[in-house]
Amino acid sequence: LIQLAIPLNFIGFLYREIRQGLADIEAMFTLLAVPAEITDKPGAPDLAVKTGVIRFEDVAFHYDHDRPILRGISFEVPAGATVAIVGPSGAGKSTISRLLFRFYDATSGRVTIDGQDLRDVTQASVRAAIGMVPQDTVLFNETIAYNIRYGRPDASDEEVREAARMAQIGDFIASLPKGFDTEVGERGLKLSGGEKQRVAIARTILKAPPILILDEATSALDTHTEREIQSALDQVSRNRTTLVIAHRLSTVVNARIILVLEKGRIVERGTHAELLAMDGLYASMWARQQEASEAEERLRAATADE
Ligand code: ATP
Repeated sequence: LIQLAIPLNFIGFLYREIRQGLADIEAMFTLLAVPAEITDKPGAPDLAVKTGVIRFEDVAFHYDHDRPILRGISFEVPAGATVAIVGPSGAGKSTISRLLFRFYDATSGRVTIDGQDLRDVTQASVRAAIGMVPQDTVLFNETIAYNIRYGRPDASDEEVREAARMAQIGDFIASLPKGFDTEVGERGLKLSGGEKQRVAIARTILKAPPILILDEATSALDTHTEREIQSALDQVSRNRTTLVIAHRLSTVVNARIILVLEKGRIVERGTHAELLAMDGLYASMWARQQEASEAEERLRAATADE
């Protein structure tokens, strides 16, 4: 029996490895839709992050030749500050985050971190310096602990627990019968969009990168979940250079600068108060969102009365 058990064990091991390998590849393809033409220059050095200043200098970009997506994009995110990008759907917000993560290179102009053009340094070092919390997090078909530890594979159990607590998902995990050993994904527990995002935040807290890209979920979350996620995001972005792609204006009120993007151009920029005073696109987007959330409140109050 022992003779049989060893090969069986080995087959089990192989199966797990292959399955994980496939899950990793699948997740990577979904996460990193990396075009093949992005390659490192021969002998390119690694990015050396000092304080983490991000600069876009007159950046233009198109995916397809006949359709410009970004034009004349210039802005700076000072070290440790948060800059938010808002604007209508399709304006090019996520494209800016993809250029910063070097999924693509700018068609013209340049993107730098601490003065280094991203095209001159290795892609791997750019990605190691940036924590990305995407709109839709892809989780591995593995345990919650595995999914969080992915941010830093040598993290201790205690560090994984602490990251989960800071990401406001600790209590939820504690309420599961198998806790951190709960399998998630396809064959495991299906997590809601908000729960998945908090797992991604915990992962990023463990990675502790100097620069962050937060691509806010477009899906509507209830007010309570939204508040929890916001406080998790505030934790992770404190003292880190952060670029937030925001869909809900309530989350950007405190940003150092808000860039308003429309059809691939920055049409307004300033603090929340400055933008309201301009009475332009931002002010009208703000008024519309206020109306929508007031209507939602009235609806909730009416249903509660029934
Ligand atoms: P949303 O708020 O809806 O997420 P967004 O402002 O983030 O929108 P982007 O995702 O940056 O907008 O898209 C900007 C434009 O680029 C869109 O018109 C989109 O169709 C186009 N686009 C995005 N990804 C690609 C791609 N891989 N290939 C070709 N065009 C693309």
